[in-house]
Amino acid sequence: MTSQLTALVAGGGFGGLTAATALAQRGWQVTLCERMPELRASGSGIYIWENGLRILDALGAQALDARAFRGFAMEQRNAANEVIDDGAFPPHIRLYTIARSGLMNALRDAALRAGVKIRTGCEVLSATASGEVQFPGGDGASADLVVGADGIWSGVRRSLGLEASHELTPEGALRAIIPGTQADLGPGGARKYLECWNGERRFLITPINESEIYLALTCQAGDESGKQVPLDRASWSASFPHWAHLIDRITETLAWSPYSIVKVKSWSSGRAAIIGDAAHAQPPNLGQGGGMAMQSALALAVHLEGVSDRRDIPDALARWEAAERPLAEHCQKWSCIYGEVSTLPDEVRDRVVAAGMADTWLRSQFLRVAMSVPTGT
Ligand SMILES: Cc1cc2nc3c(=O)[nH]c(=O)nc-3n(C[C@H](O)[C@H](O)[C@H](O)COP(=O)(O)OP(=O)(O)OC[C@H]3O[C@@H](n4cnc5c(N)ncnc54)[C@H](O)[C@@H]3O)c2cc1C
Repeated sequence: MTSQLTALVAGGGFGGLTAATALAQRGWQVTLCERMPELRASGSGIYIWENGLRILDALGAQALDARAFRGFAMEQRNAANEVIDDGAFPPHIRLYTIARSGLMNALRDAALRAGVKIRTGCEVLSATASGEVQFPGGDGASADLVVGADGIWSGVRRSLGLEASHELTPEGALRAIIPGTQADLGPGGARKYLECWNGERRFLITPINESEIYLALTCQAGDESGKQVPLDRASWSASFPHWAHLIDRITETLAWSPYSIVKVKSWSSGRAAIIGDAAHAQPPNLGQGGGMAMQSALALAVHLEGVSDRRDIPDALARWEAAERPLAEHCQKWSCIYGEVSTLPDEVRDRVVAAGMADTWLRSQFLRVAMSVPTGT
């Protein structure tokens, strides 16, 4: 690069931090604007699949410590707590689960090491295709490249006219972290994640280290007792009596919220791009929304390598989108398909899950992103 190009990244989540770090590592002068007073992960635990692990390595972000939990299967269980699918992963696909704060801190540290200037309490209201952004109070800034990594309600996406649709699903989740160990998963639960179904409710058990378990409790919007906060422990224990000992330990939960499905006309306009949930938010059924946010963010920086004149940025962004969008949309589509079983009658779901997971082609669709080799890794 002959002169240093500038980038302004709106949003300090997993996608924004990855894009900012990867651009700075390639010689860009990067400012990241996060509207919250500090960089903080919202949510409880997070699944990081093989593709996400490769990206963290490429960034030099150390999110996993010796305590991180590695699971070898996502076991499916029915209302009677019987195993309907053992959910074993192919041996070459790693999956780790940790607290979200661990991932956030690692990405923040990598960004700072790369020289990213992080401005917190800095809300970006809108952006233009020629690289201008607007802040509250009439102030603005400009950069050679603007990246909208501002999540599901992205103002950057809307101001650029890129939004095609933003749908909220009828299903949503409550999340909590409780004290617990592998022994709490009972005989046969070692080194596994357990996804348990009953009616239209789901109870997902995810160890995140040797002393904490992340729980996700999903139900439909019309399930008033299921959505209730503080948690209606009696109601959830009635649905999952085998897990009452875990439900009893829940003291605090994140409020129930539906999932977003965002579809867009394009990933960029001129010298402004959108990444992560701003571009392809999806239900969390494959545990890949964050992984995909990091994946498209790293790829963005790779596709801009060698660009030294900002007039070449739009073409590089078009190449980036052509290369990366099909996989992101595959992930979004298959995450939606996976979620469809949540409203099936129990006995039908048992058969569909067992048959679906036994089908090599179907399993490979669910695992395609995990098995992909992200650009730049
Ligand atoms: C229940 C649930 C479970 C999930 N589990 C997993 C999982 O296990 N694994 C996985 O990979 N993914 C998971 N996901 C998905 C994952 O959380 C998201 O896909 C991921 O956080 C998207 O990252 P992002 O950086 O695009 O957006 P976000 O994480 O939403 O970050 C956006 C950032 O932008 C900031 N911001 C917003 N507006 C502005 C503005 N105007 N100006 C400046 N800053 C702004 C926000 O404060 C935030 O910090 C899950 C999602 C849900 C709902």
